[in-house]
Amino acid sequence: MADERRTRVRFAPSPTGPLHMGGVRTALYNYLYAKKRGGDFIIRIEDTDSQRFVPGAEAYIIEALAWCGIIPDEGVDMATGKVVEEASAKHPHAPYRQSQRRGLYRAYAEQLVNAGWAYYAFDSSEELNAARTAAEAEGRTFIYNASTRGQLRNSLTIPETEVKNMLDTRTDWTIRFRMPEGRIVAMDDMIRGHVEVNTDTLDDKVLWKRADELPTYHLANIVDDHLMEITEVIRGEEWLPSLPLHYLLYEAFGWTDTMPRFAHLPLLLKPVGNGKLSKRDGDKMGFPVFPLNWKNSEGETYHGYREDGYFPDAFVNLLAMLGWNPGTEQEIFSMEQLIEAFSVEHVSKSGAKFNPDKAKWYNKEYLRMKSDEQLATLFEPILASHDVRADHDYVVKVCGLIKERATFVADFWDIASYLFVAPASYNEKDVAKFWKEENYTLAFEIADIIAGKGVEAAEEQIRERQWPMGKIMNCIRLALVGSSSGLGIADIVSLIGVGEFSKRIENIKKALL
Ligand code: GLU
Repeated sequence: MADERRTRVRFAPSPTGPLHMGGVRTALYNYLYAKKRGGDFIIRIEDTDSQRFVPGAEAYIIEALAWCGIIPDEGVDMATGKVVEEASAKHPHAPYRQSQRRGLYRAYAEQLVNAGWAYYAFDSSEELNAARTAAEAEGRTFIYNASTRGQLRNSLTIPETEVKNMLDTRTDWTIRFRMPEGRIVAMDDMIRGHVEVNTDTLDDKVLWKRADELPTYHLANIVDDHLMEITEVIRGEEWLPSLPLHYLLYEAFGWTDTMPRFAHLPLLLKPVGNGKLSKRDGDKMGFPVFPLNWKNSEGETYHGYREDGYFPDAFVNLLAMLGWNPGTEQEIFSMEQLIEAFSVEHVSKSGAKFNPDKAKWYNKEYLRMKSDEQLATLFEPILASHDVRADHDYVVKVCGLIKERATFVADFWDIASYLFVAPASYNEKDVAKFWKEENYTLAFEIADIIAGKGVEAAEEQIRERQWPMGKIMNCIRLALVGSSSGLGIADIVSLIGVGEFSKRIENIKKALL
């Protein structure tokens, strides 16, 4: 059934902190899935857990997705960064922030109570803790379900009149799902295939809380997916254990005909060893785990790909390849190409090991694909920060000559500062190695030829006289670059000009003779 409907998928983050790169990947896969089918990609903010709410997290999520070019069709107005609220007839599902939909969930929870799929629970947290401790003392784990609910304080055990009274006078009750006893829930996941779970292992989850009059994640998520006509739920593997409850909620509401299909994405794993990729791995190994920089309430800053100099298209490309493969050798994909090639069938079941070197490789590849003009625009602010003001066409030319050597635009200054300013010092190791009298005296003669007749003529002289080419050129390079690295001498001279060339030869004489 779901297949015949217009494809509608959603990314449903909870604003409990910055979005980890795994979260961005989930958003990306949803986006690719929707766009490939000409469907809708929706952003819904799941902010009903007020205790875990982190100020700024929602804005961060929206900014991160916008940076990646993951633009929603509904849910968030990218121009203002705000969630579209009751915006227009164009957005019949607004608002998209669950805290602003709070009024609608209670009736759904009560519908389940009336149908016998849920009940009111009055247990205080002290009572629940006592039940937990008692179970532990007997070596059991307490689980609120058919095995215990008969002994607990809820509308299944308390007389109706007393229940009514407590509902009216108390504000600490909840509505819990009544998990059926001994049922096998058979589920189909688009990535994992067929999965079965016995309901005896599951608990009676809280669906709605009178205390803050808010739904929990499970109720709000199912109700909204239904109301927003979601056709596929693509989310992280950590939600797989919730799937049986979600299946049963669809059944309880009578919505199985339009129940979305589910796809649970594999985890992103640490570069070395096992386990989930964490912020700590990033700190230890020096790579970002977040799309943008984030400063937490303790003032700690987490590195972001954007601030570390990654191109958004490189980041999107490398994320896409973490857990998905096109079934070919192709590694470089633009967003359009990803949309064309993406399929859930090629998402792997097993976790995807993150390789920070591969991430750098992607940036290097994308850097090489940028035009010299684009790179110059990015390099110019860096030059300005070094008090260098250079002619734009000159910067463009330099970018063209050095881009093969860099991974990030931020590398340009280290690679090419000598093309803008004369070296202020000379690399000691290179000086020890090359700055010998028998070499530099020849180098000065050659420098004169370079200044007069050009590099080719100078090289011809060296060959004719059978002088040591490498040693001489390294002395000249030392004068021009400050070390024995850098572009070919001819390129350097053509960029900095003969006047500057001669000045640098004089500089090194003054400094080292
Ligand atoms: N709010 C959940 C989260 O933070 C959404 C899970 C889902 O997509 O169902 O990941």
